[in-house]
Amino acid sequence: MRATLMYGAGDVRVETIADPSIQKQTDAIVRIVRSCVCGSDLHPYHDLPGQEQGMPVGHEFLGVVERTGADVTTVKTGDLVVASFSYQDNTCEFCRAGVQTACAHPEFGFFSAAQAELIRVPLADGTLYKLPTGVDTGLLPSLLTLADVYGTGYHAANMAKVSAGDTVAVIGDGAVGLLAVLSAKQLGAERIILMGRHKVRTDLGVEFGATDVVAERGEEGIAKVVELTGGGAHKVLEAVGHRPAYDQAVGIVRGGGVISRVGVPQYEEAPVGFASLFGRNITLNGGPAPVRAYIDELLPSVLDGTVNPGKVFDRTVTLDDVPAAYQAMDDREVLKALIQF
Ligand SMILES: [Zn+2]
Repeated sequence: MRATLMYGAGDVRVETIADPSIQKQTDAIVRIVRSCVCGSDLHPYHDLPGQEQGMPVGHEFLGVVERTGADVTTVKTGDLVVASFSYQDNTCEFCRAGVQTACAHPEFGFFSAAQAELIRVPLADGTLYKLPTGVDTGLLPSLLTLADVYGTGYHAANMAKVSAGDTVAVIGDGAVGLLAVLSAKQLGAERIILMGRHKVRTDLGVEFGATDVVAERGEEGIAKVVELTGGGAHKVLEAVGHRPAYDQAVGIVRGGGVISRVGVPQYEEAPVGFASLFGRNITLNGGPAPVRAYIDELLPSVLDGTVNPGKVFDRTVTLDDVPAAYQAMDDREVLKALIQF
């Protein structure tokens, strides 16, 4: 099969490699129909040391089940399925509590080979979600966002317990930030301030429900949000992952408020003491989204067109064009590239 491999920073190649095979009877093999490049794929694209062996990449996909191991019961050959970006049993104590990304199963893990024609899915019963048959192909981009970015944006809003009347600030105008805006709106936020400075993206954020856009960053951005909100936002959804975004979140959160992080932190140390969080009773939470838990909840509005999270895809490429898609996303020329097979 053809698959995307990363050989180091800035070095992405599409090559022919061996097809994946069933290794455990709980596995399935899926033929990918739509995949995409994630903002988080850009982290290794910046700093992966050069290596002899290419590293398979990609964790978001939707496809058709090609074959299943003997123990798989919930999906069968020919089913259209979407997968959460993590694979899990969906039955253990942690999964049942809705924290699938802390699954206790020894095989638990995160996908890393989804920018390819075929993929092996461990724990298929707990990972694959069967989509309705005969679904309109025009809905596929939005359905694909259930694999990660929509579920992750929703997780940010859910962990912050966004509810009716809240003032929410979203940091980051990437796909997750924009879908955090959409999710906050769905959960009833009254005012949604989007912090981002890429006009095309913040315009989409406004379409998704943002009421204000703040392009300034750092101290200037903090001052602007504090002024707009008369003292800070109740809920801050941080969808970037770099330290300055954390500092910005601390600066704009209202006393007694919540900072919910879904941007993968590219730092280990940040202030949590009296002056930053403790003194003002700020709650800090967030983490890798258990998107499998949200599919049931988010799917109906995608199917009936109430929401169109697939609008975050602003370029469609073939598998062979994936290296160029990484470059275009890194140049911020493209928000999120959809891979169509
Ligand atoms: Zn589990």
